[in-house]
Amino acid sequence: MDNRYIYEGASGPWELVIGLEVHAQIISNSKLFSGAATEFGAEPNTQVSLVDAAMPGMLPVINEVCIEQAIKTGLGINAEINLHSVFDRKNYFYADLPQGYQISQYLQPIVGQGHLDVELEDGSVRRIGITRLHLEQDAGKSIHDQHPQKSYIDLNRSGVALMEIVSEPDIRSAEEASAYVHKLRSIVRCLETCDGNMDQGSMRVDVNVSVRKAGAPFGTRAEIKNVNSIKFLAQAIHYEADRQISILEEGGEVQQETRLFDAARGTTRPMRSKEHAHDYRYFPDPDLPPLVIDKAWVEAIRKSMPELPDAKKARLMKDYELTAYDASVLVRETETAAYFEEALKSLKPSNTKSAKLLANWLIGEVFGALNREDKTLSESPVSATHLAGLVNQIQDGVISGKIAKEVFSLMWETGKDASSLIEEHGLKQVSDDGPILVVIDKILAAHSDKVVEYQSGKDKLFGFFVGQVMKEMAGKANPDLVNKLLKEKLK
Ligand code: ADP
Ligand code: MG
Repeated sequence: MDNRYIYEGASGPWELVIGLEVHAQIISNSKLFSGAATEFGAEPNTQVSLVDAAMPGMLPVINEVCIEQAIKTGLGINAEINLHSVFDRKNYFYADLPQGYQISQYLQPIVGQGHLDVELEDGSVRRIGITRLHLEQDAGKSIHDQHPQKSYIDLNRSGVALMEIVSEPDIRSAEEASAYVHKLRSIVRCLETCDGNMDQGSMRVDVNVSVRKAGAPFGTRAEIKNVNSIKFLAQAIHYEADRQISILEEGGEVQQETRLFDAARGTTRPMRSKEHAHDYRYFPDPDLPPLVIDKAWVEAIRKSMPELPDAKKARLMKDYELTAYDASVLVRETETAAYFEEALKSLKPSNTKSAKLLANWLIGEVFGALNREDKTLSESPVSATHLAGLVNQIQDGVISGKIAKEVFSLMWETGKDASSLIEEHGLKQVSDDGPILVVIDKILAAHSDKVVEYQSGKDKLFGFFVGQVMKEMAGKANPDLVNKLLKEKLK
């Protein structure tokens, strides 16, 4: 067992076992079986057809766009597309489910086994199996917080097409779970099959967690429903791991149950136990014939697919010698890759060295600043072209890497480009011998004792002299030149 995956309990190490069920809302103008609109944020009950309201005698008609989206996603997760699949009724009663059943797929889903490769921070890659992807309808929404005595029902979401993507229990840590969701989200966003907006509920994750001793059979799992951010996903897993380990170490048994994540407390609490689990009485929906897909259509869809994040990552690694992790961060969001590629166009010269530097500035400084201000890349005051401009100034030796950080802060504050800020604030690096030699003479005179020590063999003092010169020149001296001139002077 790999050290990363070990949770230390009082009785020694435990291993986490995690499987994820992701609900992803399909991007489509209309619903899975009706022509009603699907736009987010519409007035309640304004996007409800007679089918979605389950009026007697209404018949579902399959939306071809949704099928195409599911196939595309299936191909994106390296999965087999089942040319024959079946829609089933999943029967249960709930106020926001007027049909009394949800149309879903059970034994014969549209997409079978696949996998995702996820990159971890240490550069390693883990392959996570995907069991299936099936199509299903969303239910309506019950609203309990608008009236003290009443609950309201909004059927806008009723009938909206969802893909449920189920992973194998192959995930072994919160980091892997987060990386898996990131990866899946980057793929559906790239394919434009789901917008991946977790805060709007268009992507929701059910997290199955259990713990075991190394090599032991899987333990009993708890399922945490509807986790709606990657941060919460990690919190929920850590909390569940601690909770289950405590129970087991005190001699208890973990109950198989469904739990809810409490975002305010960072904890999970029981929702229903498996004893109360529904028997959904699945059976093939008599209103819908089996779904038969033409193989030629699947191949046409495959041909029309854009460059996927993995391919883009491989290309960035090859063309610019980026590390696997850096490349994976750059392709994680479509907008990050687009920003990087936009910036590359303005790099002068554009070679692997400048591209690497650009990647470092984007991942380090830009992301750091965005995080601090809780902004997304599209809100960055520093544009792709401006970031490339800053890297060009470093590459040209106009400013040092250290001064560049100062320039970057100014760029962030003002939205101006690097060269005008360098001009305006007089930050240009001094690359002439004259002014540097004046300072060197001054420093060596002021530290004549150290000069003697250096010349009698205390080599380490060289760094001290460099530091003093740089300090005296407010960091603006060309460091290579300072080194060279100092060496000559001290000979
Ligand atoms: P259900 O339909 O009851 O939710 P499934 O067998 O379809 O059950 O499993 C749902 C999810 O639970 C899958 O993602 C699977 O990988 C995961 N899973 C199954 N067993 C375990 C376990 N012991 N620990 C953690 N996850 C598990
Ligand atoms: Mg489940």
